[in-house]
Amino acid sequence: MGLVVHKYGGTSLGDADRIRAVADHIARTRRTGDDVVVVVSAMGKTTDDLLRLANDVSSVHPPRELDMLATVGERISMALLCMALADRGVQATSFTGSQAGIITDTDHTRAKIVDVRPDRLLAALALGQVPVVAGFQGVSTDRDVTTLGRGGSDVTAVALAAALGASVCEIYTDVTGVFSADPRVVPSARRLPKVSFDEMLEIAASGGRVLMLRSVEYAKTHSVRLHVRSSFTWEPGTWIAEEEPAMEQAIVSAVTDDTSEAKVTVQGVPDRPGIAAQLFGTIAERSINVDMIVQNTSDAGLTDISFTVAREDLAATMAVCREVAPALGAAGVSSDDGIGRVSLVGAGMKSHPGVTARMFRTLAEAGINIEMISTSSIRISCVIRADRVEEAVRSLHGAFELGAAS
Ligand code: ASP
Ligand code: MG
Repeated sequence: MGLVVHKYGGTSLGDADRIRAVADHIARTRRTGDDVVVVVSAMGKTTDDLLRLANDVSSVHPPRELDMLATVGERISMALLCMALADRGVQATSFTGSQAGIITDTDHTRAKIVDVRPDRLLAALALGQVPVVAGFQGVSTDRDVTTLGRGGSDVTAVALAAALGASVCEIYTDVTGVFSADPRVVPSARRLPKVSFDEMLEIAASGGRVLMLRSVEYAKTHSVRLHVRSSFTWEPGTWIAEEEPAMEQAIVSAVTDDTSEAKVTVQGVPDRPGIAAQLFGTIAERSINVDMIVQNTSDAGLTDISFTVAREDLAATMAVCREVAPALGAAGVSSDDGIGRVSLVGAGMKSHPGVTARMFRTLAEAGINIEMISTSSIRISCVIRADRVEEAVRSLHGAFELGAAS
């Protein structure tokens, strides 16, 4: 008899029927003898609706109040699920993030977990109950309600699985696992039975939308095995765990795509020490995340620096760049919001040369121009035009035969 953590996302709890189906599955799991701790997201699009309401009411959004508002969604889910469980004779108790002992820093709307004190969950388990925890939220060291950032229920689930020593953290969602490409783009995409933490980090960071990146980082650091699976079919999904050294690694596991970023170019900056530090230091001070960075070789002592940021951060980034451009001695700043990115991820790339060349050849044959390139030991990313991304994904998925059974 072990302990498992179940996390249910918004679509899994989208309406009353879905909540009853989830309660049935929890009751089923209990009958196998396992203890279950449940983490819930807000029903359907509740979080979006709440934030829209905030916009309708005011253009000023104190972060503390935004958090107070957004945490409501998960509280609706947890109470309704406990009622459905009671209906099935399963004793369940709901807990807010604060009651569950999720202690965070004070950075409202994107707080980081600093401690987990699950005493009340342990007490409920000892009484034979199923604790149902509101995901995405905690209480700060200043005793205010905080949220962990969009998609943060995944982090709650992984943090509780780590703190409670769960044998697995099962992430229930509306897809059957992690795929070799987005099945909406590539119908022949294959579900990956097993993915290493490192591959999953690259997949999540390069556009795979199944898991929140921070939850994968947390799982890797705390060695929490994840199982991403469907709450609609309940079939086995994708396991995310430590790489098994004995296993033959797939050279390429997945093609990912991302059209959520924009490119900024700072032109004609002097090629001398300190320029990049000053530019990216100022951007970091404004809490803007920079993704890919490319600096060209200098021509007559001047160079261009291009980088990508989330499209929603573009306006703020342009403002910062225009502000620091004179001090840097830059000639100008420009932006491009028509970019997209296609990436290949695979743990076997480390030991197999030639993947890069084949990727470039495949894009060339499709007549797709590469604008930026970046690599890690297990990922290659190319920035291309956004409107060519789907075609690029399909070409690469075919060229690397990712749909074929292996
Ligand atoms: N309900 C929150 C959101 O939409 C948290 C979550 O779903 O994980 O972002
Ligand atoms: Mg979600």
